[in-house]
Amino acid sequence: MGKITGFKEFNRETVPYTDPEDRVKNYDEFLVTVPEDHLKTQGARCMDCGVPFCQSGTGCPVDNLIPEWNDLVYQGRWKDALDRLHKTNNFPEFTGRVCPAPCEGACVLGITNPPVTIKNIENAIVDRGFAEGWIKPEPPASRSGKKVAVIGSGPAGLACAAQLNKAGHLVTVYERADRIGGLLMYGIPNMKLDKDTVDRRINLLREEGIEFVTDAHVGVNIDIEELRAGNDALALCCGATTPRDLPIPGRDLPGIHFAMEFLTLNTASLLDSGHEDGNFISAKDKDVIVIGGGDTGTDCIGTSVRHGCKSLVNFELLPRPPEDRAPDNPWPQWPRIFRVDYGHAEVEAKFGEDPREFSILSKEFISGDDGSVKGIRTVNVEWEKDDSGRFQMEEVAGSEKEFKADLVLLAMGFLGPEDTIVSKLGLETDERSNFKAEYGQYATSAEGVFAAGDCRRGQSLVVWAINEGREAAREIDRFLVGSSLLP
Ligand SMILES: Cc1cc2nc3c(=O)[nH]c(=O)nc-3n(C[C@H](O)[C@H](O)[C@H](O)COP(=O)(O)OP(=O)(O)OC[C@H]3O[C@@H](n4cnc5c(N)ncnc54)[C@H](O)[C@@H]3O)c2cc1C
Ligand code: SF4
Repeated sequence: MGKITGFKEFNRETVPYTDPEDRVKNYDEFLVTVPEDHLKTQGARCMDCGVPFCQSGTGCPVDNLIPEWNDLVYQGRWKDALDRLHKTNNFPEFTGRVCPAPCEGACVLGITNPPVTIKNIENAIVDRGFAEGWIKPEPPASRSGKKVAVIGSGPAGLACAAQLNKAGHLVTVYERADRIGGLLMYGIPNMKLDKDTVDRRINLLREEGIEFVTDAHVGVNIDIEELRAGNDALALCCGATTPRDLPIPGRDLPGIHFAMEFLTLNTASLLDSGHEDGNFISAKDKDVIVIGGGDTGTDCIGTSVRHGCKSLVNFELLPRPPEDRAPDNPWPQWPRIFRVDYGHAEVEAKFGEDPREFSILSKEFISGDDGSVKGIRTVNVEWEKDDSGRFQMEEVAGSEKEFKADLVLLAMGFLGPEDTIVSKLGLETDERSNFKAEYGQYATSAEGVFAAGDCRRGQSLVVWAINEGREAAREIDRFLVGSSLLP
């Protein structure tokens, strides 16, 4: 249970990021390495509260056995902690770096004190495992003779493939991009998740017997019916990649891009040539406006700063969140509070202020003399509840403004999976255009075809993708052999 009095003796101390002024000079991961004692002390804060909300329900989506490994870390039993961690999470080195940690929002200590630094401890356990050489390929002892094709190599596809392979099935992962990893590779930038970290896990999976095929766009250059005929089951893990657009006047002006175009090209060029090939959209010396918050918006901000942008403003349609939990957002829910993410801190360090403009609506893109975008016309909005209790937005008269911009990045979320596969398989979709399949069952309307991750639940989190990939593998295993020992 950590140290009996640990939560009274020790304060929360997170693993810091490197100094924002230094880290924007490169794309290196920004998590600092801390001494072992730091982590043991933080593990000692776990109260073993009896009902660990952190590891289930509103807490961790993969049900990580958090109090157990907190205690093991406190005791210095790192190898045992790693074994516990891998029981529930195939890729703790991804979640330990990028998860927003709903577990910490649900930590019982958090009712009265700052919560345990669960995410940092998770990351330290798995990093220690790799450093010590404890994590090795573990191919299955025998093969079932069944074949499964997984379409999409993001965290859902990788988790699904890993679990099915453990159960002895022969798994091939098809990925349309030139590198494996989905948004772990071409969404989340290097400074948050180094691509060697992604490749390290993929190489392990390969050594365990999973086959990966890149540049394989199923439904385009790979026939899905042939894939279906050649396999005993299909797992669709294609992500929710259709971006939400902003169809206001001037949308077609050069200089306005979807966030994913910007982020994907940036990482591809960085990995291919250290940006020498110039095959990316540069923010250097530009006035950049990022429309939309969330992880995607923050990653556009952090990347633009690293390019050397001239200025950066981030528009958010919603109002600024409160500093503390609102009465309608009690523990153990995810706290909807004002946060300063890495990109915001970097802009503040470079330009002296936080880049965010809240409650602002873009009305029109303005063209410059050269025909490219040169600014955005905006108006402020107010949010009021209507008679049915739903928030409605109203424009504030006289608040119209113009912002300079010669690069605009649209980061307003995603609408669902692309329709290539839906149309080819005639799949049913839900009201948000995701592949229709019950959570916990994952079977689509086509026999032997399953769906997991963002393509089923809509754009979400890495940890939810891992959860769905694991659970879908269990259902596919049942479908193939009648029962399953997979968790
Ligand atoms: C910029 C950005 C930053 C994010 N940051 C975070 C974060 O910090 N923390 C967090 O928890 N979550 C974050 N998320 C969300 C998280 O990345 C996703 O929820 C998660 O990756 C979903 O996993 P997935 O496997 O379902 O889909 P994806 O990761 O989207 O992978 C789907 C894969 O399928 C491939 N594909 C699609 N169609 C086909 C086809 N027909 N044939 C072959 N391949 C196909 C795609 O190319 C893609 O590689 C972020 C999302 C974005 C966009
Ligand atoms: S995966 Fe996310 S929610 Fe689960 S323990 Fe790790 S940081 Fe917390």
